[in-house]
Amino acid sequence: PSVPRLEALQHADVARMLPLPGAGSDKYRRGVVGVAAGSARYPGAAVLAVAGALRGGAGAVRYVGPAADAVIARFPECLVGTGQPGTAGRVQSWVVGPGIGDRGDAVREVLAADVPVLVDADGLRLLDAADLRGRTAPTLLTPHAGEAAALLGVAREEVEAARLASVRELAARYGATVLLKGSTTLVADPGGGAVRADPMGTPWLATAGSGDVLSGLAGSLLAAGLDARDAASAAAYLHGLAARLAAARGTPLTAHDVAATLPEAWHGVR
Ligand code: AMP
Ligand code: MG
Repeated sequence: PSVPRLEALQHADVARMLPLPGAGSDKYRRGVVGVAAGSARYPGAAVLAVAGALRGGAGAVRYVGPAADAVIARFPECLVGTGQPGTAGRVQSWVVGPGIGDRGDAVREVLAADVPVLVDADGLRLLDAADLRGRTAPTLLTPHAGEAAALLGVAREEVEAARLASVRELAARYGATVLLKGSTTLVADPGGGAVRADPMGTPWLATAGSGDVLSGLAGSLLAAGLDARDAASAAAYLHGLAARLAAARGTPLTAHDVAATLPEAWHGVR
């Protein structure tokens, strides 16, 4: 039997995926997401990843790293610490990489945890395929075309010219779910199967920091219990819808506008 190679993500699929709190919920059961991101040089990436994580449906967000002061100043809801990821306490998922600079030790520490891990941005540059081999919990990689090209060891143009083949190859090679960003975002699982295409993107998302918001959002959905493919595709959909809703009110958009409009996107999907 031939398997469809590509399937378009539908509104109703996303509506089914989104976690809603029930009468028996508490913040721990809703999931705690850990964010290991940012550096003295790039504190903003940490703030934006936390912004996305707070709007992703987990019950709590824990940030650890050198941008703790910037994060807590902006988000008193976030639990913060300045240590290594191992000092954060129990989390149900990790987001690692946005603006993390050269802290490869933090990336390795997170990948050693037995919970779903999303790796983005600088974390992808620091990623060693060997760090993924021993993992039993899901891994989600979220490269743009340039980061995907570096992971595959090819030129960016090669990825742009063959996005479907590239995302499948990455997923197979790294044994991870892969979300390849771009004008149509694609999500592939390591076991093969149909690649999901997100139709909701808008070019207004092509702005600094919007990818960091997406990472936090997808990581939060992982903490809430979605599998990696659903977390990635629902996050891409909500992110695009938030940008469209914000753009209808005024442009240019900033990444912050996208994060701030996520609650309306949720409302629009449910
Ligand atoms: P990053 O490259 O990490 O900053 O992430 C950029 C975000 O914007 C991703 O979610 C991309 O899918 C999205 N994006 C970038 N360019 C476009 C575009 N031309 N059309 C739609 N979405 C885009
Ligand atoms: Mg990025």
